[in-house]
Amino acid sequence: MSKKINLKALSKDEISGFMEQQGLPKYRTDQLLDWLYIRYAASLDDITEFSKDLRKRLGGIACIGNLQLVKRQQSSDGTEKFLFELEDGQTIESVLIPDKDRLTLCISSQVGCAMGCRFCLTGKSGLIRNLRAWEIVEQILSVNRLIMPKKITNIVFMGMGEPLANFDEVVEALKRIISYFGISKRRITLSTSGLAPKILELPGRAPEVNLAISLNATTDAVRDRLMPINKKYPIRSLLDACGKFPLRPRRLLTFEYVLIAGVNDSVEDGSRLVRLLRGLRCKVNLIPLNPPDPHAGSDLQRPSDAAVLAFQKVLEENNMTVLIRESKGQDILAACGQLRGRYSVERAAAGRQERRG
Ligand code: SAH
Ligand code: SF4
Repeated sequence: MSKKINLKALSKDEISGFMEQQGLPKYRTDQLLDWLYIRYAASLDDITEFSKDLRKRLGGIACIGNLQLVKRQQSSDGTEKFLFELEDGQTIESVLIPDKDRLTLCISSQVGCAMGCRFCLTGKSGLIRNLRAWEIVEQILSVNRLIMPKKITNIVFMGMGEPLANFDEVVEALKRIISYFGISKRRITLSTSGLAPKILELPGRAPEVNLAISLNATTDAVRDRLMPINKKYPIRSLLDACGKFPLRPRRLLTFEYVLIAGVNDSVEDGSRLVRLLRGLRCKVNLIPLNPPDPHAGSDLQRPSDAAVLAFQKVLEENNMTVLIRESKGQDILAACGQLRGRYSVERAAAGRQERRG
């Protein structure tokens, strides 16, 4: 028997086409979309607006794909982390960050990541595979279903993976997020390690979402070491691409800067950062390095609070907008692929136990 069509994997137009092929009128397509994305139907049987016969007929050829929740953990700071299993058994994480009237979901765009940044646990596993657009969107749907009647208001692509390395699926996901959940493009942020040519491609191809760039160093020598992608697209070419990125009035680029003790956190680095970003409409988020997972075996350290404040002061004295962003949910390893790292370790350990036992 041929594999069933996953209705979640279809775009709106493809769903219309599919329903038409089945000889169904347009209002049925609208009902289906409503049940999929507003009422979060998990199976065709949930769609009680369709007759039993229709559900059975559609069920013979189509299905509704879902992510399986493997683990849900709440941090003392209110951050919640969700680990989802994909249909092929791979796992990804999404992190929910409540802040005043906002509910931000940090989502993954790939399983693993090929960029190999030295400070990032996701980078350690290498790239396992790209997520499909529907798997990116499904993280939002699954969390919305779990937190009903509340709804996610903001999206950041800062979970696992490099979104611009999975360009087509991420662009399609952006379109679907905006149209299915009514989340405004101003409330969506893509974060990239700096794939300069893809930054230039974005404006013509994707909705105008916010762009964040993980800069993390002020010299090519240091950035080459921390982020191997810099050898391909050095700081100058990256910032040139950023300068060409069209910004609406009052919108700013965000530069993320992970502070690492003795590596990129000196006041000289601060002054160099000011010079590099001069002329760009931007703000800077300073992120003190998240203490590495004990399993990760990294030698990089988080700077002292005094060093973080001194770095911030250099930027402020030069009239830059700068915020210190603590990684959320540190007690549950919520930041930057840490849950998956731990889960894989636990699972591997369980496997060893089983084999022994
Ligand atoms: N691949 C994209 C998006 C995911 S990473 C990117 O690199 O931008 C999201 C953010 O987490 C990036 O700014 C990255 O620099 C930061 N990050 C990664 N590991 C970190 C760690 N151990 N501590 C603090 N921030 C980290
Ligand atoms: Fe990939 Fe971003 Fe981690 Fe670098 S920081 S390895 S680009 S997820």
